[in-house]
Amino acid sequence: MRSISIFGATGSIGQNTVDLIARAPDAYRVVALTGGANIAQLAQDAIRLKAEIAVTAHDEHLDDLRAALAGTGITATAGEAALIEAADRPVDWVMSAIVGAAGLAPGFRALRHGGTLALANKESLVTAGPLLLAEAQAHGATILPVDSEHSAVFQALVGEDIAAVERIIITASGGGLRDWPIAALASATVADAGAHPNWAMGQRITIDSASMFNKGMELIETREFFGVTPAQIETVIHPQSLIHALVGFNDGALMAHLGAPDMRHAIGYALNWPDRRHLPVARLDLAQIATLEFRAPDPLRYPALAIARAVMETRGRAGAVFNAAKEVALDGFIAGRIGFMDMAAVVDRTLDEITSQLCLSSSMSNLEDVLMTDHMSRQTAWAQITKMER
Ligand code: NAD
Ligand code: MG
Repeated sequence: MRSISIFGATGSIGQNTVDLIARAPDAYRVVALTGGANIAQLAQDAIRLKAEIAVTAHDEHLDDLRAALAGTGITATAGEAALIEAADRPVDWVMSAIVGAAGLAPGFRALRHGGTLALANKESLVTAGPLLLAEAQAHGATILPVDSEHSAVFQALVGEDIAAVERIIITASGGGLRDWPIAALASATVADAGAHPNWAMGQRITIDSASMFNKGMELIETREFFGVTPAQIETVIHPQSLIHALVGFNDGALMAHLGAPDMRHAIGYALNWPDRRHLPVARLDLAQIATLEFRAPDPLRYPALAIARAVMETRGRAGAVFNAAKEVALDGFIAGRIGFMDMAAVVDRTLDEITSQLCLSSSMSNLEDVLMTDHMSRQTAWAQITKMER
């Protein structure tokens, strides 16, 4: 029986993971589930999966969590330190699905057990890729990608030599605004940008899809995880979201991974790896799909892509600055303080401003360094937003 923990169990990725685990309850011993403010969901899943411990990220919800778990024998804890303590409980497999930079420390810590870290939290690779991979190597731990594109690349690479890879093509839906006239994008609202044509995801990642900041994050993730050069990584708009990524080899062959847009594919692959097992996802009917479309992304429509490319070249601290500025810019857009197209300007200006204070390309030595860069970038990004409002 495999022991597992799910960080961010109440979120979109977390709930899909809970769904797969709940289908085979005898195969797993669930150790820790963590969540945020949705205490009812966290408690319900902890009871259903017979978890040992449930953790809410917020101290103020501890009493509610304790009350919801009273008499079950499940331990309830709260706060950042409790998340780290939960990550210290040894398990074979951990799902890292907390959103944002908050997911970095617990995932990093879990690598110490030398088990498998299923990594949905893309911010970990973008902000601290080299540190995370080195930590995994030091403890003999395995990191498996859960972002659908990276799971697709990983699957296309099974049995292949990375030296034979010429290019990796990451597909993008183009987001909810892909057919809008470019001139209209400046006035797009949060509701406009928050509707995704194919995937059901949280509001933040959906808006990041419309701006392609999500794709920019994924290009950086690809560079860090697979160790290829930025020039080898391409992105193409594929409106149907059925091909998740392609790998091109030195003999001209292109291996594509197709599947229904359902995150249980990538989660289930990471759960069952290195085996494949039955998954409850829709099967594609190619004759009914009939056509697969592709088009090049317009750099004027998606300025986030060029910014991400520059970050991939710089590496060092640039990813942490990019991620923090992008999160703040998104907060600013959701709060109505800046427009949709201003998000890229905030990130660009934050990178420029931080470059004048720090050597962006210098590598980071530890997590504290990453968090310091993150903190500094957030302050700078908020200052840029305030300036733009004047
Ligand atoms: P979500 O917002 O639905 O859920 C986030 C989870 O993190 C929740 O359990 C929440 O309680 C918890 N959380 C939030 N803030 C926290 C904090 N400060 N401390 C501790 N826990 C906190 O997010 P999601 O869509 O499930 O995405 C999770 C991660 O997976 C993100 O990094 C995202 O980019 C990545 N991802 C998501 C998808 C998807 O389809 N949703 C696809 C690929 C990658
Ligand atoms: Mg993705």
